[in-house]
Amino acid sequence: MKNAVVSDVVAGILELKERLGATILAHYYQEGEIQEIADITGDSLKLARAATQVQSPVIVFCGVHFMAETAKMLNPTKKVLLPDLKAGCSLSDSCPADKLARYQEMLRINGRRFQTVTYINSSAAVKALSDWVVTSGNAEEIVRQVPEDQEILFVPDRHLGSYLEEVTGRKMILWNGSCMVHEVFSIRDLLDAKKRLPQAKTLAHPECPANIREHSDFIGGTEAMLRYVGQWAEPTDFLVATEANMLWQLQTKHPRHRYHPVPGITCACNKCPHMARNTLEKIRDCLRYGEPEITWQPEFDAARRVLERSLLPSSR
Ligand code: SF4
Repeated sequence: MKNAVVSDVVAGILELKERLGATILAHYYQEGEIQEIADITGDSLKLARAATQVQSPVIVFCGVHFMAETAKMLNPTKKVLLPDLKAGCSLSDSCPADKLARYQEMLRINGRRFQTVTYINSSAAVKALSDWVVTSGNAEEIVRQVPEDQEILFVPDRHLGSYLEEVTGRKMILWNGSCMVHEVFSIRDLLDAKKRLPQAKTLAHPECPANIREHSDFIGGTEAMLRYVGQWAEPTDFLVATEANMLWQLQTKHPRHRYHPVPGITCACNKCPHMARNTLEKIRDCLRYGEPEITWQPEFDAARRVLERSLLPSSR
């Protein structure tokens, strides 16, 4: 978009936001121009917690569908808008609720005692079938809380699951799902980049496969990455293996460093096509027309109880 057009759209968003008393939440994987107009930016955990503190009657959630659903479940009386209702998630889609329910039943029939620990990147119907919902920020803590006499069924991300097995020493039953963005980082390109920039530190999201994680200096979710780079006083080069829009947030919060995206096998930058469905125009239009809205679904009641005890420590 040309600058004058962008300015008009942004002015329209700010005017509507003010008039409606809306709060805009944006995930770190949104384009920088969207993060720039947001009231709160964050990872899934930070945004889910922030959603419970929001006082305004309308929340515009700039992220993907499962995130907006989560905001609605934690704020039943608020109007939650998602700029593009088709903003989905390959990881969430890899674990349909009916398939999970059949698998859990098969485990029970076989006499297995287990708790289901579910990554937040999942539908409300899957959360409703779970004992715990975790994010990359609190997964380790929750996994360590599951009693040793119970097995853990971890869904849907097999890479995050295998990372948690490594750090907790807890063997788990892993669902075979993955994120299309984190799965395709190229190990060959990462090793080439490390040769070109031997002094650089590599940051990897735990949704990355093991071959990327094992060549990284730091493994953590996006919020943890921000804390990690903030500790380096001297200007430093960082190779970043997560969705490429995270570089905008890193650059904005810690501009003294230089950030380089780790390329994927199929593209140079690794942007999430689902996150990219949200645009400034769609944000303006959802404020203008009051839709698309996330409406309450029958499975939200059960999913909400799991979310609250997992993500809001005061309700545990
Ligand atoms: S980056 Fe991966 S996990 Fe996140 S929304 Fe996109 S497909 Fe889903």
